Amino acid sequence: MSVSGDMPLIVTIDGPAGAGKSTVARRVAGALGVDFLDTGAMYRGVAAAVIDAGIDAEDSDAVGALAEGMHIGFNWGTDPPRLKVDGVDVSHRLRDADVTANVSLVAGNSRVRRVLVKAQRWIGKEHPRLVTEGRDQGSVVFENATIKFYLDASPEVRARRRADQLRAAGRTNVDEEKILHRIVHRDERDSTRTDGPLMCPEDAERIDSSDMSLDEVVELMTKRARAEIGVGVDE
Ligand code: C5P
Repeated sequence: MSVSGDMPLIVTIDGPAGAGKSTVARRVAGALGVDFLDTGAMYRGVAAAVIDAGIDAEDSDAVGALAEGMHIGFNWGTDPPRLKVDGVDVSHRLRDADVTANVSLVAGNSRVRRVLVKAQRWIGKEHPRLVTEGRDQGSVVFENATIKFYLDASPEVRARRRADQLRAAGRTNVDEEKILHRIVHRDERDSTRTDGPLMCPEDAERIDSSDMSLDEVVELMTKRARAEIGVGVDE
C-alpha cells in the first residue's frame, strides 16, 4: 500500500545519534512508497571532504569555503540513494571513524549548514514525497512538513544497539563504554550549537524507542503517516 498520485508528503524524523533513524526512515519510506533522504550522510560527506583536503575541522573559514564550493547530491537511481560529492560516489567513506569523530564539529559551522539546508530544500522540491531524517528537519528545513517525529532512546540503549550492530558485522573488540561516551559527546555538540540544534519540534510526536523494537517504531510511524494523509492511500 503506497501513497497515491503526486500528493506531496514530507515526513521528518529527527533525533539523537544511534536512535535508529536511518533504518526506520528508510523502512517507513519503503512502506509508503516514497523517497528517503539521509541528511546525516550529507554532513558526513562534507566532513570527509574536509579531512581528505587536509583542512583542520576547527578552521571555520576554510571549512565554510570548501562547503560553498562543492556540489553535493545523491544518485537517486540506487536504493538507498548514494552520496556524490563533486560527482564522485563517497558512500564508502561516510562511516569511517575519522569522519564520525569530526562530523558534529563540521556540522556546527553555519556556512556548512546554510549550504546543506538549501540543498535539502531543493531535494524536497524535486522529491516532494519524502521521508527525511536528521537533527533539524522538522525544526528548520521542512517546518511545514506533513508529519513530524522525534525518535529518542536512552543513551545506554543507543550504545548497546550500536555495539550489537558492530558485533553482528564481525567486530570482536567492541567497547560499549567508549561508544556510549562518543554518543553522549556528539549529542552534546549537536544540541548546544546555535544554528539548527538538535531539538524536538513542538509539533512533533516524540517516540521513545528504548523499550520498542525497530519493527514497532516503523509500524507506528507508518500508521500515523497513513492516518494523516487518509484519503491519499492506495489499498
Ligand atoms: O545521523 P548521522 O549520525 O549520520 O549524523 C551525523 C552528524 O551529522 C550528526 O552527529 C550531526 O552532527 C550532523 N547532522 C546535523 N544535521 C542533520 C543531520 C546530521 O547536524 N540534519
